[in-house]
Amino acid sequence: MADLATLLEAWEPVIGLEVHVQLATESKAFSPSGTTFGAEPNSLTDPTVLALPGALPTFNVKALELALRLGVATGSKIRARCRFARKHYFYPDLPKGYQISQYDEPLCEDGTIELWVANQRRKVRLQRIHLEEDAGKNTHHGTTSLVDLNRAGVPLCEVVTLPDLHSAEEAAEYMRALHRLVRYLGVSEGDMEKGQMRCDANVSVRRRGEDRLGTRTELKNINSFRFVQKAIEHEIARQIRLLEEGGAVERETRLWDADAGTSAPMRSKEEIADYRYFPDPDLPPLAVDGATMRQVITSMPELPVPKLERFVREYGLTFDDAATLTDERELAEYLDAAVRSAGDGALARPLASFILTELLRVLGGRPITEAPVTPEALAELIGLVASDVISGKIAKDVFATMCKTGERAGFIVQRDDLRQISDASVLRPLCEKIIADNPKQVAQYRGGKDSLLGFFVGQLMKATEGKANPSLSADLMKKLLAG
Ligand code: ADP
Ligand code: MG
Repeated sequence: MADLATLLEAWEPVIGLEVHVQLATESKAFSPSGTTFGAEPNSLTDPTVLALPGALPTFNVKALELALRLGVATGSKIRARCRFARKHYFYPDLPKGYQISQYDEPLCEDGTIELWVANQRRKVRLQRIHLEEDAGKNTHHGTTSLVDLNRAGVPLCEVVTLPDLHSAEEAAEYMRALHRLVRYLGVSEGDMEKGQMRCDANVSVRRRGEDRLGTRTELKNINSFRFVQKAIEHEIARQIRLLEEGGAVERETRLWDADAGTSAPMRSKEEIADYRYFPDPDLPPLAVDGATMRQVITSMPELPVPKLERFVREYGLTFDDAATLTDERELAEYLDAAVRSAGDGALARPLASFILTELLRVLGGRPITEAPVTPEALAELIGLVASDVISGKIAKDVFATMCKTGERAGFIVQRDDLRQISDASVLRPLCEKIIADNPKQVAQYRGGKDSLLGFFVGQLMKATEGKANPSLSADLMKKLLAG
């Protein structure tokens, strides 16, 4: 059969994602137990989590505030009053026999998440964002199975897209955009390795030009950004090949096996009726008042996409540099603070480039919050380069000293006498001496070997311990060698 790229000319993939995002609360959604990752199994439980008779849930308003932040940031319609519903199923990780979720009255609807795919801006439409609680975790060991209820009752937001994504790459980019957004908002740490963000992917394909959606499968257990793309790519190829061979896609849930790089059927999809949804009588309706909304709206940070665009527009950064610098809110804010402190927009680019090369290298993967140098101190250093007090090369040495001692750039330059020599009357005699000392190279240069200019400038740098103004040095050398 033809390769996938060729098959994709005739078939269009359609993907909708359901992403569970753990809300960054200290206690559970409906009870006081903690939510610390990696705690002793079953240590984060209480009568409500254990579903002991008579225990009643009390909703954690912090979870509501976090969900509202995401709702506002995605421009969703927010329900002023909504209800929790019980979703029933039987499994050992769910002691109550039902999960508290939302059904016909989700907190948020009709939002969008913006992202860039292949340098193109895209809006992915959201069907809904609703609140729910997590279940516990079962692990299987030979003939025994163990249940850990530490996760049971942890608050989640389920973010559901419309079937709006059309490639595995786009789906992966959407996941990254959502991850970035929830981290910017402080809604979740979004750590997939800790299960704080989990993705189920609904995948179908249809002939290009066809309006009707094809039969979809739902892929479960995708727990890394890389696997989102791989699992969906694999499923798209599987469905197209099946249909090309005259087969049909079964409506089923499939489990992605990351080690094998394949998926296998898990169960045929349960019908809505199987869950016997109904409003939870133990919980009052959830009301969102005006004061809460105002507080959420006024505390919105600048979001990742507008920030990226501003960095391109106002700071003159390339798309890729702006994307790297806005990936984490704290990193973007570091640059903003440095530019503000420099008091000169023209310094934004050299600041950005110094952060991307020198500062990130020094950090070696640690977060910007651990930067050894404040934005203000970096702005001072780059200011010295911009005003020709020191050269870019010396700036790197000064930066190394700043990282080590915490001293300010101006102080180091003064103390170690690192000011750039921009005075031609000081440099000229040094140039003349270098020319006199290197007759062989002078002859070669004058014979047409222009590349030797670098050698002469290098000698001058050596003689001045790197302090000669580089462009003045090159000009001066060229003139004297010509003469
Ligand atoms: P369920 O509750 O059974 O999972 P929903 O109708 O709520 O089903 O849809 C869940 C997700 O599946 C949504 O993200 C939606 O966009 C997506 N989806 C629905 N139909 C299709 C389809 N034919 N192909 C791909 N994705 C789909
Ligand atoms: Mg589903």
